[in-house]
Amino acid sequence: MVRKNEFEHIKAELTQRKQELEQKLIELSRERITDDQVQDPGDQALSSTMESLRTSLQTAETEEYQRIVRALEKIEDGTYGICIDCGQPISEKRLKSYPDAARCLVCQELFEDREKE
Ligand SMILES: [Zn+2]
Repeated sequence: MVRKNEFEHIKAELTQRKQELEQKLIELSRERITDDQVQDPGDQALSSTMESLRTSLQTAETEEYQRIVRALEKIEDGTYGICIDCGQPISEKRLKSYPDAARCLVCQELFEDREKE
């Protein structure tokens, strides 16, 4: 079952978000280079705090970026929005909150229960 057309708007949103993240990641890596030139000890302390803050921010954004890329790939090959466990369509509401959801809500809960044990 191909639900490609249904996801045109999700695809548009994801593409836009992907571009924003690309821009941010480029900016973050540029700032990192500038920071290396700071020599003052006080500045260095601040700089390392900023650096760790930036690194965690960059990690979160890189992860989000990768999720978006995967979701876009799935939309392209027509497997987007299908639960990988039961093969049923994932609700659009869920996809709006979790664009990269691989499972429907029921299967996700079962999956998380299994993970806990
Ligand atoms: Zn399912």
